[in-house]
Amino acid sequence: MLPVTESRVVLVTGGSKGIGRAMAEAFRDAGYRVAATYRSGGVPDGVLGVTCDITDQGQVDQAFETIEKELGPVEVLVANAGVTRDTLLMRMSDDDWQTVIDTNLTGTFRVVRRAARPMMRARFGRIVLISSVVALLGSPGQINYSSSKAALVGMARSLTRELGTRNVTANVVAPGFIETDMTSVLGEDTIADYRKRIPAGRLGSVDDVARAVLFLANDSSGYISGAVLPVDGGLGMGH
Ligand code: NDP
Repeated sequence: MLPVTESRVVLVTGGSKGIGRAMAEAFRDAGYRVAATYRSGGVPDGVLGVTCDITDQGQVDQAFETIEKELGPVEVLVANAGVTRDTLLMRMSDDDWQTVIDTNLTGTFRVVRRAARPMMRARFGRIVLISSVVALLGSPGQINYSSSKAALVGMARSLTRELGTRNVTANVVAPGFIETDMTSVLGEDTIADYRKRIPAGRLGSVDDVARAVLFLANDSSGYISGAVLPVDGGLGMGH
């Protein structure tokens, strides 16, 4: 059994639903002090909800100030908020590209940059970036999304090189097909095709992802950094 450090302050971006919500609940249940951002909806009970659109640096700064005042500096950052705008390359508009890059990549950069200084000062930090199996596997109709998610691997590894001596780790979790609102829009044929390709023979659950993130966030995981941890039932093996 891993030791849990109950007093750590966690921020999960995009905690209103799906994987982010499950992670916020899992951290809360493990005894962490948890904040989560939301734009619509709300956050789970027992979690500090802060409104924040990660495409707006002002809102990111405001969210961190609120969390620092209410809970203290963020010690564990889970950059989870993300969007898709799927379409084939020839039909992909600048807006489809820009929206996904600005949220998934630049938005992650904004929260990581704001979180890093207090972590460096405290000589402790755990940064987990939520990427995707398609970052390395590729996916037709997701040029924008897979590019944004692949870039997170470079980000985590550069962070590891910059912040490693300060006991700040940066890792990537790469989920496969997880049942959430994001994947519910995919057609039945696509879902059936994925199911056939997944060695585990089933789609993933939000809890599968939450467990992996809690592992990387733990105090005792301090020697794991720059890693890409797949949570995909084997879908992306070899990539
Ligand atoms: P959902 O669509 O269910 O949830 C996405 C979350 O991101 C919501 O909480 C949403 O907030 C938030 N969000 C989106 N845009 C912004 C923004 N500009 N600012 C702040 N928050 C924002 O998706 P999932 O739970 O499925 O996905 C979570 C993460 O996991 C994403 O990064 C996704 O790319 C990744 N992932 C998901 C997989 C899957 O199979 N589901 C597979 C691989 C990776 P709100 O609703 O309040 O706007």
